[in-house]
Amino acid sequence: MSNPTIENLVIIGSGPAGYTAAIYAARANLKPLMFEGFQAGGLPGGQLMTTTEVENFPGFPEGITGPKLMERMKGQAERWGTECYTEDVTFVDLSQRPFIVRSEEREVKAHSIIIATGATAKRLRLPSEEQYWSNGISACAICDGATPMFIGEELAVVGGGDSAAEEAVYLTKYGSHVHLLVRSEQMRASKTMQDRVLNNPKITVHWNSEPVDVFGENNWMTGVKVRDTRSGEERDLEAKGMFYAIGHTPNTSLFKGQLELDSVGYIITKPDSVATSVEGVYAAGDVQDHEYRQAITAAGTGCMAALLAERWLSGSNLIQEYHQKSGSEQAVTQTTETKTATPDTVTTFNIQSTRHIGGYALRKLFHESDRLIMVKYVAPGCGPCHTLKPILDKIVDEYDGKIHFIEIDIDAEPDIAANAQVTGTPTVQFFKDRELLTQMKGIKQKSEFRKAIESYLPATV
Ligand SMILES: Cc1cc2nc3c(=O)[nH]c(=O)nc-3n(C[C@H](O)[C@H](O)[C@H](O)COP(=O)(O)OP(=O)(O)OC[C@H]3O[C@@H](n4cnc5c(N)ncnc54)[C@H](O)[C@@H]3O)c2cc1C
Repeated sequence: MSNPTIENLVIIGSGPAGYTAAIYAARANLKPLMFEGFQAGGLPGGQLMTTTEVENFPGFPEGITGPKLMERMKGQAERWGTECYTEDVTFVDLSQRPFIVRSEEREVKAHSIIIATGATAKRLRLPSEEQYWSNGISACAICDGATPMFIGEELAVVGGGDSAAEEAVYLTKYGSHVHLLVRSEQMRASKTMQDRVLNNPKITVHWNSEPVDVFGENNWMTGVKVRDTRSGEERDLEAKGMFYAIGHTPNTSLFKGQLELDSVGYIITKPDSVATSVEGVYAAGDVQDHEYRQAITAAGTGCMAALLAERWLSGSNLIQEYHQKSGSEQAVTQTTETKTATPDTVTTFNIQSTRHIGGYALRKLFHESDRLIMVKYVAPGCGPCHTLKPILDKIVDEYDGKIHFIEIDIDAEPDIAANAQVTGTPTVQFFKDRELLTQMKGIKQKSEFRKAIESYLPATV
């Protein structure tokens, strides 16, 4: 839907760069509008939604998980009045003023734009990759590592940087052994991360090694074909999982031909600035930074972008200020952080309730309820699970009393996940009359869940 208002500032992307820009712009009374993204270039919350501990972001001496850090940033941005839409931008026109920014659901006009679309994990697109994608191959160890098919198995990680090192160490929690495939004879990872890998008896580093394909049976991968990058010799490495950690590509396809990009696709900004080749358009974070690529530098450039946008709007007499009522900045959005959820037991289980937790409830409802049953499988620290939570919360509220909703932590209840053949999190399965009707993997829009539920609910007369 087209909105006739012209926004002061639209921010595209909700990683550390986008949220920091939003906090500064909102506090400057610009009432920024943010497209948080959905699926096009990562997740709402950005890359840190796919990691566990962040140990180097100032202010958290004890460390903080990536999803929690991002939730706090979002809370702070919303508290000062940022308007957030969990939608992908699909089109921008920077050739006319005001600029036009469009998603599937809305079109907005804006005097200025901050691009904070970050970067997306690279894949190698091996010959059999499509066949084994999500059936052994993954680009997110934190999201998929707890999958039952990986537990107690040999696993492989591809890459030699910090992400690869972190994923290899993380996967030792689940796999019997982790093989790290490094293309050259050294790792790019920080010294600390290298030490963690090299001193871990459950990790073998294969130097000068790159995957050329994967193979498997019964639709699940069982090994990686590995080539020696010096001799060209190929060999088979047994592994039930392969995780990519080979870097990222900047999310700039929307801006090709409209902004100056470098040969790799990063947005080129003016020296010592985050101004792009178009006046009033700024780029912050990994989308313009091929050197540092850290949460704190992304946040720093997000701050610069908001300050420059405000100056430009003000200098061009375009600013429309939205004053907050004094001392009444919005309350911090209710956090979506899950309290430690307590699984239902024989004493707490109530078949009339809509929401349930754990395997006991699943078994009882599976056998005794005639309602549609919706099961969400999650893993601790899984960023996409976190993103899906508010989406499903709304859906479950809409169908209160008509369905059952059960959350299963596959790390805590691996047997249930194995029986349900869950291959990654988040996964949502629908059951009725003891039959699996369908399953939906990853993050989906509310409309898709609604459509699935409506198709299985008895028609109302
Ligand atoms: C596994 C892992 C671990 C890491 N650990 C650390 C760490 O410990 N410390 C540290 O400092 N850094 C760490 N980093 C790096 C850090 O995550 C990045 O530098 C930082 O997230 C970059 O922030 P950003 O805001 O530029 O972009 P991102 O975090 O990449 O966010 C980009 C945002 O843009 C959105 N988007 C993309 N396309 C569109 C579109 N078309 N429409 C709307 N929205 C869109 C995405 O949904 C996302 O919200 C890690 C990265 C990874 C992958």
